[in-house]
Order: sequence, then structure tokens, then C-alpha cells
Amino acid sequence: MRLNIVVLPGDGIGPEVTGAALDILEAVSRSEGIELQHRDYPFGGAAIDACGQPLPEETLRACLASDGVLLGAVGGPGYDEAAKRGAPRPEQGLLGLRREMNLFANLRPSRLYPGLEAASPLREEVVAGTDILIVRELTGGLYFGEREEGTVSALDRLPYSAEEVERVARAAVQAAKGRSGKLVSVDKANVLATSRLWRMVVDRVAAEEGMEVEHILVDAMAMYLVSEPSRFDVVLTENLFGDILSDQASAVAGSVGLAPSASLSDPGRPGLFEPIHGSAPDIAGQGIANPIGAILSAALLLRYAIGAETAARKIEGAVEAALAAGLRTRDLGGRATTMEATKAVLQQL
Ligand code: ATP
Ligand code: MG
Repeated sequence: MRLNIVVLPGDGIGPEVTGAALDILEAVSRSEGIELQHRDYPFGGAAIDACGQPLPEETLRACLASDGVLLGAVGGPGYDEAAKRGAPRPEQGLLGLRREMNLFANLRPSRLYPGLEAASPLREEVVAGTDILIVRELTGGLYFGEREEGTVSALDRLPYSAEEVERVARAAVQAAKGRSGKLVSVDKANVLATSRLWRMVVDRVAAEEGMEVEHILVDAMAMYLVSEPSRFDVVLTENLFGDILSDQASAVAGSVGLAPSASLSDPGRPGLFEPIHGSAPDIAGQGIANPIGAILSAALLLRYAIGAETAARKIEGAVEAALAAGLRTRDLGGRATTMEATKAVLQQL
């Protein structure tokens, strides 16, 4: 099996955590007989420094031609300052890349690792066993509808087409098939017309795929995520609800440094894999960032880019074992450096 990936280290702790994730990818590729090819490209603030724009043409072309893209993080206070004087923002690169790669399905797993119960704000008996995959629609809805700015009145439109709902529903069903197969769809169908369309299309896709689906209203879901998070497996929802609920789910499961994400397009097209944390300028360059979010993103890349399920599980198992054996970076209340954390995972591999 061959795997050709583009690495976008980006800014702040981005290069530190993608470097760690590549060490793990290389090790697991060797043992699984995967022929890994990877190359770094400038992106975000680093690309603004190098050539004045956050998403250079060459970077975009390489991403579109790859099997998958591994991203660190973009942004930083220096760029925020420069943007006030009219410079482009690193984050514009990310939005452009999502659009050009047509990444309509955002997958965010939130898992409470055994032994890390103390990292959750919830009581141990409530949060134990939590392992949720949120599938958020990423290119439609309120964030992409027409807007009218105003100081007396303003308007944001929330459009969805059946086709947009269908393709993300299929991605969620696919993801649920690789897990326990329990699918929950979140909407506000008692009020919103788009939610009624959402529900109708999700029901049809689920029926076609022979999968059961439970519908939960978003306000109730916000309650259940803190009262009984371990009840959920795959949760499918639209853009705005998914934005809010996925941050809530990652807080329930602990540190921001642990959580990975995958943004997917149509089957056969490359996806984008990145930790959910930002560039963390406060700790950048110190070698103390937690690399696990990036390492788990590499596992998602193996799973969703080339279907290398065994290799993906090996990485996830090694992370779980390393945490169980006591690995704690600073964000988890310990003192392990990025390099020590990477070595601890490599050892478990
Ligand atoms: P963005 O706006 O880019 O999404 P942010 O500024 O909201 O991000 P982060 O950059 O993720 O937030 O940082 C938030 C806090 O979490 C910071 O104190 C940072 O040091 C810490 N943090 C983020 N990622 C990690 C990590 N991988 N390891 C350790 N600490 C981290
Ligand atoms: Mg930030």
C-alpha cells in the first residue's frame, strides 16, 4: 500500500506536533508495509513570511494531488497585528483550503482515556467510557448563507440542499459502520425548516444503508452531553450545532491537546487531518506541546485516506497504553516533553 501525504506544519507549536506525528507515522508504516511519502509545504503564517500569502498555489496543488494532508496549526499574535495593517491572515489559508478541497464532513472524536478522568470537569462515574464521534457538516448552513449586515436589523440565512445533507449523512453512516453502529442525528426539527429536510434525508440515507438512527433536538443534546455523555457513539449534525457541540464534547473529554480531527470530502478525494488545538503561541518553541492530538490525527489519516484500519488502531492503542502507563505532558498536569511523549508512544508501538 502506498501513502502520499502533504504535511503543512504551519505556525507556533504546529511544526513540533506534526514532527512528532510523522515519527509515529513512519514507524507504523514500516511495520505495516505501507510505503509512506511525505513532503512539507508552506502554509498559514509561515507561508505569509515566505511568499506573502497563506495558501500558495504550489501548496494547494500538492494538497489536491495527495492522498491526505496532515496539518499542525496556523496563526499567532504577530499575524493578528499585521492583519490590522492590511496583511492577509493565516486563517484565510485554512478557509481557502477547506473550500478548495471541498471538505464538507468534519469528524471530531472525543474520547475519555482510561486514567484521565481527572482531566474532565465531570464526575468520574458520569464521564467514564465516553467515546463520541461528532460528524459536523462543514461547508453549508448558516456560516455560508447570505448575510445582510446592519445596525438596526441584520440577517443570516440558513440554506441546506438535500444533496448537502445526503453526502454528510453518508459520511456519518460510513463512520458508524466502523464503530458500534449507533447513530444519533441532532437538529431542531420542531422549529426549523432546514432541520425537517435534514431529518427526512438522514432517515432516507439510514434506511438505504440499513442503519438505525435516533433523532435528538439540539437543546436536549446539549443537556445529554453533560448528563450522560457515555451513552453516545456517532453524532451527526449541521454546521452551527456541530461547531458548538464538538467543542462541548472535547471539553467533556479533557485536554485540548489530546483531540484529533478529520475533514473529509467525497470518497476518493483527499481529506485534511489536524489536531483541534491552535498554534499555542504561549508555549511554542519550548518543546513541551502535547503531540497526541496530532498523532491521533495521523491515525485518522491512515483510517480515512487509505482504509489502513489496523495501522490506525495500532497508533490509537499505543496512545492509550502510553497514557495508561503514566505519560503526562504539561497540559495534563505532568512534565513530559513533546519528544518524551513521542518516545513513549513509539515504545508502545
Ligand atoms: P485558535 O484560535 O488557533 O483555535 P486558541 O488561541 O483558541 O486557538 P490554542 O492555541 O489551542 O487556543 O491554545 C489554548 C491554550 O491551550 C493555550 O494555553 C495553549 O498553550 C494550550 N494548548 C493548546 N494546544 C496544546 C498542546 N498541544 N499541548 C499543550 N498545551 C496546548
Ligand atoms: Mg488562537
